[in-house]
Amino acid sequence: MAAAAPRPLIAGNWKMNCLHRDAVALASGLAARVKGAGDAPGCEIVLCPPSFLLFPIAEAVAGTAIAIGAQDCHPAPSGAHTGDIGAPMLADAGCAYVIVGHSERRADHGEDDALVRAKAGAAQAAGLIAIICIGETLEERDGGRTLEVVGGQLGGSLPDGADAANTVIAYEPVWAIGTGRTPTTDQVAEVHVRIRHGLGARMDAAGAVRILYGGSVNPNNAAELLAVADVNGALVGGASLDADAFWSICETCVR
Ligand code: PEP
Repeated sequence: MAAAAPRPLIAGNWKMNCLHRDAVALASGLAARVKGAGDAPGCEIVLCPPSFLLFPIAEAVAGTAIAIGAQDCHPAPSGAHTGDIGAPMLADAGCAYVIVGHSERRADHGEDDALVRAKAGAAQAAGLIAIICIGETLEERDGGRTLEVVGGQLGGSLPDGADAANTVIAYEPVWAIGTGRTPTTDQVAEVHVRIRHGLGARMDAAGAVRILYGGSVNPNNAAELLAVADVNGALVGGASLDADAFWSICETCVR
């Protein structure tokens, strides 16, 4: 008998986009919607605010099914790393998740697979679930290298000891992030199947690992994207800054 699909996860990545007052209003609005739905949405929901908002957002969603995630962590647990934040600090702030290897960090900060792997390992050591982002550029896709690139990033970014309890993979084609463009459902399926096979080569029970799709997910395309085989949720950027839009994407999981 085939294993049941993992419970979907919808994660909102607020990036560097909100100030305190709007962020608390956004989180409170979502918390009210989740409570209105009996606190049992058809998916797990994670909000990933900028670090300075972790405490107030954790407070705003306290007592609901909404979890908190951070957008990055340092590979060391503590030390002389001015401006950085360690995974134990994120856990202390109430985080259950942390995004690592987002393409914006790979591009803006030159993060490579080895660093992403170290960050994911640090997250897991602190008891956090690492959302490891991978995805090809447009040039790589146009060059027919998508599966090779994504497979390489997966292999290089996944720490030893990764399993379904401490790891989520987010497939985010770089060219789809913030552009309004999305791959076809066949293209998404092809990559997610490749990721699932790659996970199977590294761990037992790879079918239980959630593989998210990310890149211009919105209320209009969520149902189609979330219905693709081996898509177990979404990492949402722009649309997560609007409570109605984000909640509508979450609700897609129960339709
Ligand atoms: C992201 O940055 O992870 C993302 C998916 O952004 P957007 O939904 O805006 O494309």
